[in-house]
Amino acid sequence: MDKIKIMEASVRKWEGIIKGKRSDGGVIDCPPCRIFYILICIGCPIAAYTGKKFCKGTPYGRWYWHQLEAHDRIRKKVYCPECLKLATEMRDFMIEIVEHMKAQKAAKEKAVELTTNE
Ligand SMILES: [Zn+2]
Repeated sequence: MDKIKIMEASVRKWEGIIKGKRSDGGVIDCPPCRIFYILICIGCPIAAYTGKKFCKGTPYGRWYWHQLEAHDRIRKKVYCPECLKLATEMRDFMIEIVEHMKAQKAAKEKAVELTTNE
């Protein structure tokens, strides 16, 4: 299982929300949640990055509460400029995690390379 691919799917999800092509189904359609959530949220790259479970410390909380307080509809999607801003923050945060994971992976491969060359 490639965690980077899973997080890239998450970036694509938020891209779709920003473009107004899809809504946010939370845990049900979050690519990492579908694999890692299972009520306890263990092993998710987002939790590993923030050090907090259930997407605390990410822009998701603000998106969620804005949806509830400003729109209160079943479908969480972009309804106003604030929605767009929060969805963009979430997309950018997912990109930040992907970049971080790619950098870590590259550093690991570099370390392996160095030890095998000795
Ligand atoms: Zn809104």
